[in-house]
Amino acid sequence: MSEKMFGRVALIGIGLIGSSLARALRRDSPETEIIACARRGETLAAVQRLGIADATNHDPAQAAAGADLVVVATPLSAYAEIGERIAPMLKDGAILSDVGSVKQAVIRDLQPHVPREVHFVPGHPVAGTEHSGPESGFAELFRDRWCILTPPPETASEPVTAVGRMWESFGMHVVTMSADHHDKVLAMTSHLPHLIAYTIVGTATNLEESLKSEVIEFSASGFRDFTRIAASDPVMWRDIFLNNREAVLEIVQRFTEDLTALQRAIRWGEGDKLQELFTRTRAIRRSIIEAKQA
Ligand code: NAP
Repeated sequence: MSEKMFGRVALIGIGLIGSSLARALRRDSPETEIIACARRGETLAAVQRLGIADATNHDPAQAAAGADLVVVATPLSAYAEIGERIAPMLKDGAILSDVGSVKQAVIRDLQPHVPREVHFVPGHPVAGTEHSGPESGFAELFRDRWCILTPPPETASEPVTAVGRMWESFGMHVVTMSADHHDKVLAMTSHLPHLIAYTIVGTATNLEESLKSEVIEFSASGFRDFTRIAASDPVMWRDIFLNNREAVLEIVQRFTEDLTALQRAIRWGEGDKLQELFTRTRAIRRSIIEAKQA
C-alpha cells in the first residue's frame, strides 16, 4: 500500500515500537510527515542518522502540535505527564493513540487530558522483541501479529477504523475489546510468562558461584529460552507489573496453585498426572504453530 494514511504523525517515544512504526509508515505511506520525540539527545541523533523521521523534538507538546495522529510509545510511567503536556497542543479532529502493553492504566492516565474535539483510540500492537531503542526497530515487526484496540465507548467509530486500517496495512490482525478484558488476557499470555522468566533467571543468579557457571554452560537445556525473555527492558516491565497489578496478582495466584499441584504429583510419584498435563500442553504448542504465532 502506498496511499497517504495520515498527513502528519507524531511519535512520542521512538524506541523499539515507535521506530518500527516510523519505518512501517515510511515504507507504506511515504508522504506522511513523521515527527519523533524523545528526552535524550542521543536518541534523537540516532533517529536522524537512521532517517526514520522528518523532524525531531525534545518537547512532546511541540512534537504533537498540528499532528493528525499522535502515538504515545514511551514506558507507561511517562504517560500521565505526556498527556498533560500535549493536551493543549492537540488540534481539533486529531487522533490520540498509543502502543502501551496495559490498557486500563493508559485510559486512566491519558483520558482526563483528552480535549473534547480529539479522538482517543488506545491500542496495543502485540509484537515485540527483548531489544530497546530506535536502532532495534524494523518495519516487519508487526507482520502476522495481533493489534488490540480498546477505544472507550464514547470514541466515534471512524477514528477507530482509521487506526485499525493503519495497523492492518502493516500486516497486523486488528481486534477491538474492552481495556479490562485486554488486561486480563495479556496478564496470562504475556505478563505471567515474563514474571516466571524473571524469577527463574533471578533464582539462577542467586545460586552459589560454582553452580552458576554450569547454569550458563548447560543453558541450552531450557534455561536459555527464559534468559531471552528475562533480558527485556527493566523499566518497561516494572511499569507493566505496577500498572496491571490486579490482573497479574489474580493469575499468579492461579499459577501458584497449579504449581503446587505439580509439586505434589512429583512428590507422590503420580506419573499419570504429569503425563496427562504434558500431553495437553503439547497440543497448545501445536495450535500456536498452526495459528502462525510461533
Ligand atoms: P523503548 O525501546 O525503551 O523506547 C522507549 C522510547 O520512549 C525511547 O525512545 C525513549 O527515549 C522514549 N521516552 C521515554 N520516556 C520519555 C518521555 N518522558 N518523553 C518522551 N520520550 C520518552 O520501549 P518500547 O519497547 O518501544 O516500548 C514502548 C511502549 O510500547 C511501552 O509502553 C510498552 O509497554 C509498549 N510495547 C512494548 C513491546 C515490546 O515488546 N517492547 C510490545 C508492545 C508494546 P529517551 O530515553 O531518549 O527519552
